[in-house]
Amino acid sequence: MSLEVTVTPHTRDENSTSAQLSLGKKSLTVETSASVPLDQSATPWLAPALLVAMRHDVSVTLPGSVDATALEGADQAQKVLNTWYPQRMRRVEVDATPAEPETAPDGRGVGCFFSGGVDSFYSTVKHLDEITHLIFIHGFDIALDNEDLAERSRRALREAARDLGRPLIEVRTNLRQVHARFGLDWEAHSHGSLLAHVSLLLAPHLRKVYLPSSFVAGELVPYATHPDLDPLWSSSRVDIVHDGLEAARAQKIAAFADNEAAMNNLRVCWYNKDNDYNCGRCEKCLRTMINIKIAGAAGKCRTLPAEVDLDLYDHTYMNSGGVESAKENLNVMKVMGYEDPELEAALRRAIDRPWLANELLHARKLASLAPEFVKFVWKQGRAQLGSGRG
Ligand SMILES: [Zn+2]
Repeated sequence: MSLEVTVTPHTRDENSTSAQLSLGKKSLTVETSASVPLDQSATPWLAPALLVAMRHDVSVTLPGSVDATALEGADQAQKVLNTWYPQRMRRVEVDATPAEPETAPDGRGVGCFFSGGVDSFYSTVKHLDEITHLIFIHGFDIALDNEDLAERSRRALREAARDLGRPLIEVRTNLRQVHARFGLDWEAHSHGSLLAHVSLLLAPHLRKVYLPSSFVAGELVPYATHPDLDPLWSSSRVDIVHDGLEAARAQKIAAFADNEAAMNNLRVCWYNKDNDYNCGRCEKCLRTMINIKIAGAAGKCRTLPAEVDLDLYDHTYMNSGGVESAKENLNVMKVMGYEDPELEAALRRAIDRPWLANELLHARKLASLAPEFVKFVWKQGRAQLGSGRG
């Protein structure tokens, strides 16, 4: 069996492209559109199709010709993925005709994926001299059917992009859903190939695209975006660059603390329906406020409260990301020579918090979302706590 990819060039609507991925009886169509014309060749479909083929241990056939550099890189990418996930990502044959490098149009720019958070502002401000476009993808973090959140995000990001003086390219794709239906894990396998897909689709406009890293060097684990993997999805026309490994979040904020556009528009929390800003009370907001404090920039960010309420932090549910960020903050306090015994103690309490105490906070958080269900979980938790103490 082979994964057959059929790319339908959109001759009338250059801002859209689609491809059908067929494997046995299963046939699913990926549709991607943008606010600018897109490359209509098969090359941008190589990374996302290859992942499906590797997951199912079948060869993949791409129509027409595919950029020779992208094909060579994809071969290396297969090695990386197969080393990380020997059972779930197998090495497979790629059936495609290598295309000679085309002469790319002159004057193309440099893009950076942009969600308005710490990582994107860091990479954007760091390379602002070079960056000509920012890129937002609906269907990446934000579910395709959540139009309300997508619209609020687009509005906020357009404002941020305008303040930075760079146009925002807006993209929409259902690739994440299609990958999920082919059994790919979004975090571990899939999301890097979506970024590669979009990067290569933007070849008519961009010669290089930055992918802001969420990890610090030394803490890297196998993950769908990774400095060892992302550049391998490049083509002869577009360089894909994984950026920002050198800095922890507090160090990233310190680097852009004097940039007004960044400090006026930083958004880390998108679930606040009351207004367009961060809620200032969830774990993601609190960790960022702590980052800002450590960066010596307290009071400079217009979209978050200046003071961190450590009592609230003590009573906020910590998911694994929250615990990791508490560890990172403790470490970066030392590195940056920032002394604050109360904050340090609060970070240690968050890291050492007993499992059940944390789960009770989780139940309380859910309570605000679904009262009846949560009353049940809360009661169960209290009962467990009671028996645990006895
Ligand atoms: Zn929040």
